[in-house]
Amino acid sequence: MRKIAFGYSTRCNIQCEHCVAADDIPENLKMEFHQAREIIAELADSQVGGVSFTAGEPLIYLDEIAELVALCQGYGIYTRVVTNGFWAKTPELADSCIVKLKENGLSQLRMSYSRWHQKNIPRQNILNGAQSCEKNGVDYFISFVTDFSEQDDAVEQYLRDNSLKFFPEPIISAGRALSFAHLPIHTDYQANCCSMNPYLAPNLDMYACCDAGSHFTNTNFFHLGNLKDSSIEQLLQKSETNRLYNHIRNMGITAMASFAGFKAREIIQYRKCELCDKLFNSADMLGILQQEAQSGLNSWYR
Ligand code: SF4
Ligand code: SF4
Repeated sequence: MRKIAFGYSTRCNIQCEHCVAADDIPENLKMEFHQAREIIAELADSQVGGVSFTAGEPLIYLDEIAELVALCQGYGIYTRVVTNGFWAKTPELADSCIVKLKENGLSQLRMSYSRWHQKNIPRQNILNGAQSCEKNGVDYFISFVTDFSEQDDAVEQYLRDNSLKFFPEPIISAGRALSFAHLPIHTDYQANCCSMNPYLAPNLDMYACCDAGSHFTNTNFFHLGNLKDSSIEQLLQKSETNRLYNHIRNMGITAMASFAGFKAREIIQYRKCELCDKLFNSADMLGILQQEAQSGLNSWYR
């Protein structure tokens, strides 16, 4: 199924230290509402079956996002909203937001939670938001963003103590998080395949990867184009037919790094987006991989 991360606005009401937003990117890029409606119609024409409203904090624009969710529902598109939970200060306020989203057909709410988010948003908000979802029958989960350090044990325990549904998610080494010290990790020698859902930014640039993809600015490897020059269908097809992207999806970053000459013991020290950055955000390395995309890499499958 085609899915897309929809960046309605880059505006956020807090400034997390780990955010992938870079400080030199304007904070208040926003799509025109009528344009967002037209894009959703075009997404439906291109058989996009899932839209995740993300980027800055989407629920700053609750009324508009609720209307866009309703529009998606009319087209049979599954919707998710990714939020920091600022709107859930009390159970009553949480209900008023959740009921509105539910009435407009929201499929799922994803609340972000971490020791960085919670410097600005009381953790009680996350509890209020989750309990409101449970009470009002809205599917939800919590993204517990972590660097896997011991400092996060108590942060995680709060979720367990309150029986909340959560999934740990590694911080992405991009934007403000680039200032964090690189903490080597040691994991299994895993494939690190990515499904790579495209991300549409408020300025209508589309990227092939919705996580760190817009930050590979040395090579612009994941930049697919802009909707002012191309249709959604063209950009989606570009994403789906690019040979290197398909190797990322099917072979995985780890085997590609090994092919490119990285030692196995080095590979296991990187999180996958960091490894991806090493492979595709350097012009020299990217040039080699592009040359090999149809030859050497094709025979590098087990
Ligand atoms: S991580 Fe999310 S909540 Fe925090 S500043 Fe970035 S967009 Fe806002
Ligand atoms: S590993 Fe690469 S393709 Fe996968 S999410 Fe990270 S930046 Fe995107």
